[in-house]
Amino acid sequence: MTTEQRVRFGAGLRHEAGDEVERLGCARALILSTPHQAELAMDLAADIGAHCAGLFTGAAMHTPVEVTQAAMAHAQETEADCLVSVGGGSTIGLGKAIALRTDLPQVAIPTTYAGSEATPILGQTENGAKTTLTDPRVRPETVLYDAELVATLPAAMTVTSALNAMAHAVEALYARDRDEDTDALAMEGLRAFVDGLAAVVETPGDLAARETTQRGAWACGAVLGRSSMALHHKLCHTLGGMLGLPHAETHAVVLPHAVAYNMGAAARELAPVAELLGGDDPARALWDFAGSLDAPRSLRGLGMEEGDIDRCAAAAAANPYWNPRPVEEDAIRALLARAWAGEAPA
Ligand code: NAD
Repeated sequence: MTTEQRVRFGAGLRHEAGDEVERLGCARALILSTPHQAELAMDLAADIGAHCAGLFTGAAMHTPVEVTQAAMAHAQETEADCLVSVGGGSTIGLGKAIALRTDLPQVAIPTTYAGSEATPILGQTENGAKTTLTDPRVRPETVLYDAELVATLPAAMTVTSALNAMAHAVEALYARDRDEDTDALAMEGLRAFVDGLAAVVETPGDLAARETTQRGAWACGAVLGRSSMALHHKLCHTLGGMLGLPHAETHAVVLPHAVAYNMGAAARELAPVAELLGGDDPARALWDFAGSLDAPRSLRGLGMEEGDIDRCAAAAAANPYWNPRPVEEDAIRALLARAWAGEAPA
């Protein structure tokens, strides 16, 4: 794999996937997608033509190891020499899982803002348990951001996927290993979403604004790959893992509350967030921003039961990990109770 990632932006770029396969020195691409996006994968296969070796349309949430094994068997049967992943974080995760085991080069064509294509991180599940690893082999060699593909994202998914990406950047601002470069990348990502998101919600087909938001997705993903995440990501993984709450929506609800929790310990680091969004309280500013976009703002609305608050707070506080403010179970319980009820962050 190359150390530099080739990243291109442009409406219609998916039609150049075949050229990118050739550029990698490859001639037999296995195209990956979810069942939901199989038609898009077939269109891509037609575009790639003779360089398409086959399709695997079984990508699933949380990258189950059984799905990776089935896709690898298909890669072997079709004698694939590279992977083209078209989809959100789940499909791109499958490409990364295959690359980890085979070192096949990847072209990623993202259709959400999750940002996985920009990181050397892979999350996978086996026997119901999710583990995460970082390995330079899993980061795709080439990323094609085609604005036409996110133009079809439904408004609700547009907003929650963007807030999921923004959460990577916000936590990077107070990460233990932050530096000037990660601060700049994080703010670049946040600014792009603040500049483009309202426009794409208003006019989903505004391709210039869609490209702005995709630039935000790349920057937020890249900074996620370079920074250690803290309370916010830990809470979202706990809620996703224990209760199966939906990934992007959970990030959207929890972010203002995690920021409020950390404000006392990271006020200086978080100040640029309030400057960007307006106001002087970053947590409130993020809450208002989410509200202005009709984002979900309560865990109850995502299907969490009130009775689950205690055990989730205990689990989130159980394994000590670095966070600007120490993780205290009582305070986490209060945070989750507010997020559950849809109250403003405090
Ligand atoms: P997803 O990939 O699970 O997609 C959700 C659904 O939306 C799927 O059915 C998909 O086919 C569909 N979809 C995707 N794009 C669409 C479009 N443009 N129009 C209509 N439907 C579309 O969701 P996601 O939020 O992109 O990814 C979440 C997963 O990615 C999680 O498992 C998360 O852990 C992982 N992730 C990993 C990293 C990393 O660095 N490893 C970073 C971010 C997210």
